[in-house]
Amino acid sequence: MSETIFSKIIKREIPADIVYENEEVLAFRDISPKAPVHVLIIPKTEIATVNDIQPEQAELVGKLFLAAQHIAKQEGIAEDGYRLMINCNQHGCQEVFHLHMHLIGGRQLRGMST
Ligand code: 5GP
Repeated sequence: MSETIFSKIIKREIPADIVYENEEVLAFRDISPKAPVHVLIIPKTEIATVNDIQPEQAELVGKLFLAAQHIAKQEGIAEDGYRLMINCNQHGCQEVFHLHMHLIGGRQLRGMST
């Protein structure tokens, strides 16, 4: 997998507004937020897309959800609610080929648009 902008954020080669980190997961604010809270949650391991997740990485993927749960509480939006979204490849409008979960909230979201 070729290096992405998110690998550079993990290595602190480019800045990001980091809101959460543990050994396996990093989360930072999206540079172009679509809502008052828009955080990207990524594994530190390079996985390009959902299609590339291996069975042995199931626990790691679960940790993205646990990070999302933690960050939602931290941001004060857990009770009101939020959206978690992962885009995959061209039809999913994936732009950065390092697996990432969008955590979006802080206002009433509209229904899913296609
Ligand atoms: P995708 O379309 O791949 O699911 O989402 C990629 C997201 O990464 C976009 O929402 C975009 O705004 C965000 N993004 C792209 N480059 C950077 C960057 O350098 N820093 C941060 N914080 N977000 C970025």
